[in-house]
Amino acid sequence: MLIFDAHLDLAMNALEWNRDLTRPIDEIRQRENGLIDKPDRARGTVCLPEMRRGGVGVCVATQIARIEHNAYSPVFGWRSQTQAWAQTQGQLAWYRAMEEAGQMAQIRDAEGLERHLKLWAETPLGSSSSSIEMGPGNNDKDENDRKRKLPIGYILSLEGADSIVTLKHLEHSYEQGLRAIGPAHYGPGVYANGTGATGGFNANGRELLKEMQRLGIILDVTHLCDDCFWEALDLFSGPMWASHQNCRALVPHNRQFSDEQIKALVERDAVIGAALDAWMLVPSWVRGKTTPESAGLTLEKIVEHIDHVCQIAGSARHSGIGSDLDGAFGQEQTPADLDTIAGLARIPAMLKARGYSEANVTLIGHGNFVRFLREAWS
Ligand SMILES: [Zn+2]
Repeated sequence: MLIFDAHLDLAMNALEWNRDLTRPIDEIRQRENGLIDKPDRARGTVCLPEMRRGGVGVCVATQIARIEHNAYSPVFGWRSQTQAWAQTQGQLAWYRAMEEAGQMAQIRDAEGLERHLKLWAETPLGSSSSSIEMGPGNNDKDENDRKRKLPIGYILSLEGADSIVTLKHLEHSYEQGLRAIGPAHYGPGVYANGTGATGGFNANGRELLKEMQRLGIILDVTHLCDDCFWEALDLFSGPMWASHQNCRALVPHNRQFSDEQIKALVERDAVIGAALDAWMLVPSWVRGKTTPESAGLTLEKIVEHIDHVCQIAGSARHSGIGSDLDGAFGQEQTPADLDTIAGLARIPAMLKARGYSEANVTLIGHGNFVRFLREAWS
């Protein structure tokens, strides 16, 4: 089944982690042996060949560059918005290079979406999850050759809007194909308050939302703090999704959505992508201390979050996958039984085992996000 992954930070990995994502995952890991500058060195789970192997033919891929906030800077931040802008433009240059090499294809409108879906539908993928687990050598050779050549479709998104220096930059980004924005990341941002922070949108943030709406840019409510989340529902009447977000009822933390928030998003016909970052999947995770094994964390956990959203919605219409698998963590912070992103191909069978119909499994695998984009871009 075609898998739509609503959140990957591919360009960040290429440029800041210095990963050549066109190479096999073993090679990428080997080249990082001995490096200690990032916690996930030699443990990455994402590269383009593994995406193809798992049938992850469409994704939402980010530009991401935050600015520094002293009180909230567990991660690197740029000293100015112009530096952040330049960083995101470098990331775009990488996506463009991938397009030129035939490795990726940017999807920016309904026509492009249909063209890409047709391309992947016409090239059948190894569908059984057992062949995925066994590795690429298990498949028919011709089919593998065809799969290896398919470009990964991507919808360009911006995670945290700090890099948007002025609304002119926003317009320029739209022309470059930017189609979704999450206004905040962690802590306070230039326009909005993110995970761990409090308070609503500032005046510039309200202008940003207005301009996003005018341009038809999707609002990604992931990472908005609760105050901003509820404000956004009033301030923004365009299409909104949550690209990578789990359930607070299962893992208590403001990074996750409360049941009330999920209900509000269902009313807006949003789609919520379930994420595979360990600390968002199971409670009481301590970064760098808890291990997937000690927490008993397996891929099945993401199905619990998906199922929770479906139970609240009363249907499978609002659930999808936004793995976040390359979001500055690797195997040390992902389910123990997941080697690479190709393992996403096992989720459909897990949903079926829970009693989900074939039609509903397809909705969760890709159908909901595809429908969402068709409607947003009609
Ligand atoms: Zn994120």
